[in-house]
Amino acid sequence: MDLKNIIRNVSDFPKPGIQFKDITTLLLNPPAFQYALNCFIERYKSMGIDAIVAVESRGFIFGSVIAHSLKCPLVLARKKGKLPAEKISESFALEYGWDTIEMHTDSLKESQRVIIIDDLLATGGTVSAVIKLIQQLEAIPIEAGFVVELPVLKGRDVLQPVPVFSLVQFDDI
Ligand code: AMP
Repeated sequence: MDLKNIIRNVSDFPKPGIQFKDITTLLLNPPAFQYALNCFIERYKSMGIDAIVAVESRGFIFGSVIAHSLKCPLVLARKKGKLPAEKISESFALEYGWDTIEMHTDSLKESQRVIIIDDLLATGGTVSAVIKLIQQLEAIPIEAGFVVELPVLKGRDVLQPVPVFSLVQFDDI
């Protein structure tokens, strides 16, 4: 399945110079959406996974279906101020300024084997903050799975030693 041509490129969004990879066109295409989900499910079903950590907000779309299929807990990594109960936070640098991601302290247990799911890997800042939260809870990040990877930005190196799996790679950013 040629996911590369199904994911829409929008130039200059949200600001000039950015090539935005728009996965809404994948969501509109049931065979493509199902194919993408099955790639993750087939990969992770025999890896002894205890939980899926999905990253707000597009990671929720994919992560929830994967967790449902694997019959394992779904943990939400959310932007600052969204989670109501006791939580831990990690800040990370954006191009301009900082952002913060949070997880509930009771969302993972020690030694649980975890897969992180997000729609896109760019610089790796977001998911490296999520990895730190998982490690603070003494769970084990086994792999980070993405629909899209922008290899030019070397996010894969930033996430080391956690392995990266992606369905589609784009060389323009
Ligand atoms: P990063 O922390 O740099 O790896 O950025 C990853 C997050 O930013 C993901 O949650 C993406 O949804 C979003 N993002 C960054 N760059 C793009 C892009 N070119 N197209 C679409 N989403 C992007």
